[in-house]
Amino acid sequence: MAATILVVEDEPAIQELISYNLEQAGHRPLLAENAEQAFELVQNALPDLILLDWMLPGITGVELARRLRADKRTRAIPIIMLTARSEEQDKLTGLETGADDYVTKPFSPRELNARVKAVLRRRAPQVTDDLVQVGGLRLDPVSHRVTGDGEPVELGPTEFRLLHFLMAHPERVHSRAQLLDKVWGDHVFLEERTVDVHIRRLRKALEPSRLDSLIQTVRGTGYRLSAN
Ligand code: CA
Repeated sequence: MAATILVVEDEPAIQELISYNLEQAGHRPLLAENAEQAFELVQNALPDLILLDWMLPGITGVELARRLRADKRTRAIPIIMLTARSEEQDKLTGLETGADDYVTKPFSPRELNARVKAVLRRRAPQVTDDLVQVGGLRLDPVSHRVTGDGEPVELGPTEFRLLHFLMAHPERVHSRAQLLDKVWGDHVFLEERTVDVHIRRLRKALEPSRLDSLIQTVRGTGYRLSAN
């Protein structure tokens, strides 16, 4: 499954190289040359990951990372810092600002893709192609197929994304606002009721396999997928 990756890099050649490689790996790159542009793009839609150059004109990458971490809405976006610096102290500073990983230039496309994959797997498993299984449910992002105890489950695109997110984060309660943010993208103005509508459809689709009980309502909080 494609991840939306915001690339904040002021050097055109490097930006182009990264963007090309991300596309080759099946992702959707969004490009920004500086922190201001990056802010603007993040206002429209939250990316799944940010590749952030340390040395940017104006607001530096480190400062941008700090600001993103200080804002509740953008706090959880995974960040990989890109830098020409290799000093240990700089590396520590980068990680202290809340970066998830750190890649030193020059890097090979292969190394970068591997880092991106590892961070997504850890922080945003719902955008990877990894097969997920929870309590009789099996979801394969590659073939876009879901089975419940071996029987095919037919889902609409939104229910598929919702189930994928819940299965990638089982045993955790998600508020309706969090689900809107993660599954729908919060640039769209949606009411929290929307979540309830799609949860209902999802349960209905899971009823024949009797796995609808995996989707639990946590009163006053939100929803949880649990095999227990
Ligand atoms: Ca730079």
